[in-house]
Amino acid sequence: MTEDNKLVRDKAEAPLPEGATQGVTLSRRRFLEGVGAAAGLLAAGVVPAALTSLPGPAAAAETTSPSIGGDILDPILEEDDALRYPGKPVYYADPAGKQKWAMVIDTKACIGCRRCVYACVKENNIGRDSGFTYIQVLQMERGTIELETSELDYEEAGRPDKWYMPVQCMQCAEPPCVYGCPVKATWKEPDGIVLIDYNKCISCRNCMITCPYDARHFNWIRPTVPKNEINPDVPLEEKAFVVEKCTFCVQRTRNGKTTACVEACPVGARTFGDLSDPNSDVSILLKTRRVIRLKEELGTEPMIWYVG
Ligand code: SF4
Ligand code: SF4
Repeated sequence: MTEDNKLVRDKAEAPLPEGATQGVTLSRRRFLEGVGAAAGLLAAGVVPAALTSLPGPAAAAETTSPSIGGDILDPILEEDDALRYPGKPVYYADPAGKQKWAMVIDTKACIGCRRCVYACVKENNIGRDSGFTYIQVLQMERGTIELETSELDYEEAGRPDKWYMPVQCMQCAEPPCVYGCPVKATWKEPDGIVLIDYNKCISCRNCMITCPYDARHFNWIRPTVPKNEINPDVPLEEKAFVVEKCTFCVQRTRNGKTTACVEACPVGARTFGDLSDPNSDVSILLKTRRVIRLKEELGTEPMIWYVG
């Protein structure tokens, strides 16, 4: 048995918590549970702003405000010491600044081309044989809410009879994944980005169970990237046999760049920016467009909003 195989076996044999499920089909279904109502409104082109702000669907139905304001964002923008990492920040990115990062995705603009997915894979040294991507793009029948039968592996993008919804880590302000980690290997930084210390992760995969967005992925193999495509700004070796996920391209965004997915999108369907700046593009979109967040009745306070 090779060293790698032994490591995989040891990590893989760590018992799953009771009720845990594995596999693409089951985990996909788990993500889709509870997403239908909000996504349906996007599909129908009706997106009440109330869904961004209120705890439950019943309350949401009562509000017709077209945008969200400071009273809703203020608690999110406040510092949250409880979730801060007790140790040093990840070595591959600058320390957090004063920003509160967020993203808005326009499902009406998205053509499902997956260029965001490919750009993310390259930027973040995702193993080419690891069997996952941080971003997934769901394809659905236009005007329907059939998330259960949405296509992940569609071959033709931009079909006029379909609509597209990219999903990824929502960088929750109240991240259940952080609460789920028994060794504090994952935490929320002051700028809102939820990070993982690959050297601290013990591969228990509890965070995968507690994340309601199916946004975390386990590297069952040592990730491989062609030599000439390795991004030296992002870990590679350290990601073997641990959990990884989207970081809002922390290595770029703390250096004044936008995320790789935003840069790659040919139709401007993605907007990334600083919520604490009232004049940033994301702040303006939240103030002027009708938006929703996925599964927000869970209280996770996702930092990705959808417009449509
Ligand atoms: Fe954590 Fe999942 Fe929220 Fe991302 S989407 S912050 S992994 S709970
Ligand atoms: Fe949609 Fe833009 Fe991603 Fe293409 S790159 S799938 S248009 S978000």
